[in-house]
Amino acid sequence: MKKLRDGNPDGWIRKGGVSAPLFNKGRPGGIFREREKVGLIQKQYDALRKKIKKSDLENQWRAFKETRSRQRQNLASIDDLEKIKGEVKRIRSESVGNWDLLQKAISALEKNRFEVIQAKDSKEACEIFLKEIGKERLVVKSKSNISKEIGLTPFLTQHGIEVIETDIGDRINQIMGGRSSHYTGPIVHLSRYEVAEVLSRHLKREIPPIPEEEMQAVKEDIESYLQKARIGITGSNAIAAREGAILIIHNEGNVTRVRTRSKHLVIASIDKVYPNIQDAMVMAKLETYLATGSLFPSFIDIVAGRSKSSDVEKIPFYGMHEPTELVIVLLDNGRREIFNHKKDFSDLLYCIGCGNCLLDCPTYNAIGPSFGADGMLGGRGVALSSLQRGMREGIEDGLFLCTTCGLCGEVCPVGIDAGKKIKDLRRGALEDHEVSSQLDEVTLLRNTIDRYGTPYGPMARAEFSSFKRKCSLVLYIGCVGMSTETETASHAIQLLQRMGIDFTVIDEVCCEAVKGETGSTADAGRIKQNIEKIEKAGGREVLFLCPTCLKAFLEYEEKHKTGLKYRTLTSYLSENFSFTSSEADPATITYHDPCHLGRGLGSFDGTRQLLTDLGGKWVEMEHHHQESLCCGAGGGLRAFYPKFSRDIARKRVKEAEEVKADILLTDCLSCKHNLRQGVLFEGKMRVMTTPEYLLEGIEAGEIQSSRRTPSRPFTRK
Ligand code: SF4
Ligand code: SF4
Repeated sequence: MKKLRDGNPDGWIRKGGVSAPLFNKGRPGGIFREREKVGLIQKQYDALRKKIKKSDLENQWRAFKETRSRQRQNLASIDDLEKIKGEVKRIRSESVGNWDLLQKAISALEKNRFEVIQAKDSKEACEIFLKEIGKERLVVKSKSNISKEIGLTPFLTQHGIEVIETDIGDRINQIMGGRSSHYTGPIVHLSRYEVAEVLSRHLKREIPPIPEEEMQAVKEDIESYLQKARIGITGSNAIAAREGAILIIHNEGNVTRVRTRSKHLVIASIDKVYPNIQDAMVMAKLETYLATGSLFPSFIDIVAGRSKSSDVEKIPFYGMHEPTELVIVLLDNGRREIFNHKKDFSDLLYCIGCGNCLLDCPTYNAIGPSFGADGMLGGRGVALSSLQRGMREGIEDGLFLCTTCGLCGEVCPVGIDAGKKIKDLRRGALEDHEVSSQLDEVTLLRNTIDRYGTPYGPMARAEFSSFKRKCSLVLYIGCVGMSTETETASHAIQLLQRMGIDFTVIDEVCCEAVKGETGSTADAGRIKQNIEKIEKAGGREVLFLCPTCLKAFLEYEEKHKTGLKYRTLTSYLSENFSFTSSEADPATITYHDPCHLGRGLGSFDGTRQLLTDLGGKWVEMEHHHQESLCCGAGGGLRAFYPKFSRDIARKRVKEAEEVKADILLTDCLSCKHNLRQGVLFEGKMRVMTTPEYLLEGIEAGEIQSSRRTPSRPFTRK
């Protein structure tokens, strides 16, 4: 097809303002560059840009892809993954916060001669461990996210206790002072070469970059400690209430050795309770599959008491083998408070620690474990940390780094929608005066919208006044189309003109969706103003170029019935017209689902059907439909952290490159704008909206359209 001509439709003018956008130039500082006062977000942005290593992210991405590939390979061997997920979700929702079940578990553990100690917070838990360790100066430890949550190892180290991590990944992180990048794979961000370097330096001998040799080196490194230590610390993946047992999943075998020191200390949070061993095992299988792609871990240690025997006259005695002491510390750390008083967030505690939400999270793949807290990674980790440790810490952990794309909610086996929680918590952060006074960046964005009626502030704005007339069909262009994607908006108008579709426009004000995304309260009055103008123009049906605006209007409609019909322009076109092609397009096309249209509104098929009808070559990227990747523009990321937003766009464009797409099609001006930033070589791949693609084909005489019988408007899923 020939390319669309540049330029604007008749009647298009650019009105007033400054020529440069207020934000989104992608330069360091984004919207904040001219301000004197630097807020929390800008400080964090500057620090992260210095800290993040590109090679770490590349290694992590490779490892995550490997896990996904193993999951796919083994999927056929699982009876019914969706059913298992549903089962685990049910078990978690019935067990977490069930204080009777917790009490039952405590009684059963005590009956099995565990010493059970409850700790209300991190400090108390750490102090308990210090007391239990007593005069010992050496402790061996296996992987435990809860121990990371409370900072146990650094605490004990500060108190003169040598803590040796025995998990290979954790040990390497310990040696180099790094943070785990995955719950079960703590060094997925490192290559074998980096591991060899770390070990060679630590062991003062050459360790070759061969995984088996590296494993052997760590094994030798920890062996003497395992032999000497009298105390072992482990975590626990589950506590079975009926049996009074703990369950620990592992592959390396180190857990068995750690827990058979003279004294076994266990750290577990109070949300780890399951009704019985069978239910805990269902979780263990699911967790293993999602975390590693394997069907079953190498080991599951079930500990239901100390070593005991009744061989002599059937009289039970204890201490035949190690351990002779068994202590479990049950940590609350804000969990009761969340469950009892912050109910909307209680499902954050359903987490089984599989890390599936991290594998494709756009932010996690652009930032790494700095998106989250130690032992609490990614969006869910940020949300929990904000609740447990306070909003300021939550912001430092990444409360404003999430694109709110919703992908984690889609892939989480227990349905934790971290993006939604984060949006709610952002609101909480802005309500907290002490914190909000430092959120200058968010405040600036909000004030800009309040003052100018658009997030782009005084930037020049397109005016389509000559299209204003009385008409039942209204095109809502949106702030992106008015400010940065004016040409794309003008192409949509040209298409309507070309197809002889009568329409009108209004003097729009921002729908304020971006405020809601970034924690401020959207002023519903703005949508009301738009609706009044639509009604005054005689509008009955409104077509949107951005699904984010559409979603905001639909949410308004749920509360204030107007009777107006809303849908995207593409949806209107595909439902009212059929498109055929006289000659199939030789270009390879792929389609990017905008988050707010796909996951947000459940609409996936309009453009796909259209492409199928046109008969050209179109292919899916690796991530599509419900599991589509974000373009990086959402949740305020483009405004607050422009580089990370671009990096996310680049990753998405790479997926299009992998399927050798010539054209990357989407149905959102904001997505188009961001994705274009991810195209490295101008002209190699074209990023277009569906209306633009249709216009180009019609202008070239290659696509023909004919009207169908009208169908029903868009409805929310
Ligand atoms: S939030 Fe969900 S996907 Fe993420 S680690 Fe927890 S259970 Fe797994
Ligand atoms: S909503 Fe998207 S960006 Fe935010 S945590 Fe979930 S997957 Fe990551």
